[in-house]
Amino acid sequence: MVSTFNEVDRDFLLTLLSEVGPSGSEDTSMRIWKRRAEKFAKSVYTDTHGNSYAEVGEGPPTLMLAGHIDEIGLLITYVDDRGYAYFTSVGGWDPQVLVGQRVRFIGKDGRILKGVIGRKPIHVLRGEERERAVKMEDLHIDFGMEREEVLERVEVGHYGVLDWDPEFLTETRLVSRGLDDKIGAFAVLEALRLYSQNPHRTKVVAVATVQEEIGLRGARTSAYRINPDVAIAVDVTIATDYPGIPKNKIGDISLGKGPVVAIGPNINPVLREVILEAAKEEGIEIQKEAIPYGTPTDANVIQLTRAGIPTALLSIPCRYLHSPAEMVDLKDVDALVRLINAVARKVSGMKREDFIPW
Ligand SMILES: [Zn+2]
Repeated sequence: MVSTFNEVDRDFLLTLLSEVGPSGSEDTSMRIWKRRAEKFAKSVYTDTHGNSYAEVGEGPPTLMLAGHIDEIGLLITYVDDRGYAYFTSVGGWDPQVLVGQRVRFIGKDGRILKGVIGRKPIHVLRGEERERAVKMEDLHIDFGMEREEVLERVEVGHYGVLDWDPEFLTETRLVSRGLDDKIGAFAVLEALRLYSQNPHRTKVVAVATVQEEIGLRGARTSAYRINPDVAIAVDVTIATDYPGIPKNKIGDISLGKGPVVAIGPNINPVLREVILEAAKEEGIEIQKEAIPYGTPTDANVIQLTRAGIPTALLSIPCRYLHSPAEMVDLKDVDALVRLINAVARKVSGMKREDFIPW
């Protein structure tokens, strides 16, 4: 198989993953994404909601590629007399995952402040407490400082993440916090970079959307702004190739077996066929997942924008979602980027009416 594009840019990915960027505080991640986009996009800009856009091509049609750049995180709500900080969840954490974790906050001076999430030890947990699942309110952050020192560095409203950096376990298996969905924001920009090397008529607008984890919010405003003729959202999806995940309920999704094409009412049937044909023509192995309702992704709100945008969802298989040890295989990301590029070329010259399903 011949391709002009062998591999996605790992350095850019690792830099993006290292930034602290929970929903509502995507600024540093976004700066890196935009700096990168300015190298090859015709136009790069940000809206008042914080979504950033990068464009290549003239259209028609306009193809929107959406990857949400926010990650789940922590938000300080209260600092007590002794300097212990209490927090609320930004996005969907399982509190069990948080016990004993180190954390990383952006301080007032822009420097990183580190701490730990504390919980009383097993020695003092009474019978019933040992049995029940830990709740968010049982936990606090200990920065190892007195109240005054803590308040010099952070205060109510400061955002943090678990203190983990990305790491390759093998040549292609990557573990990191925040792969959901910085890997999607990364993939749409890499797809735009590939498309920019040999653009067709399609105007491709890659969007790093904000605030997905707290209600698909940036996709709503950005889709309205662009009013695309056709759209593809890129997110991670639950891999089912590890213990305890029921394939009979979710389907058969493995790392390293290719990007995942969602099938269901959230997906425009004409666009779905374009994607499946493009995969076949390019020799790209894909996996399918059946979702019988609006997907819990940007694709949901994009499809419902204005009078309805023909939308698809392409996903990267991911293990251990919403933990600091999310795992993907970069082979799937390479294939996804090539697939999106092929679709962008295939829809060249198509009009919105061409996607009327029946
Ligand atoms: Zn996501």
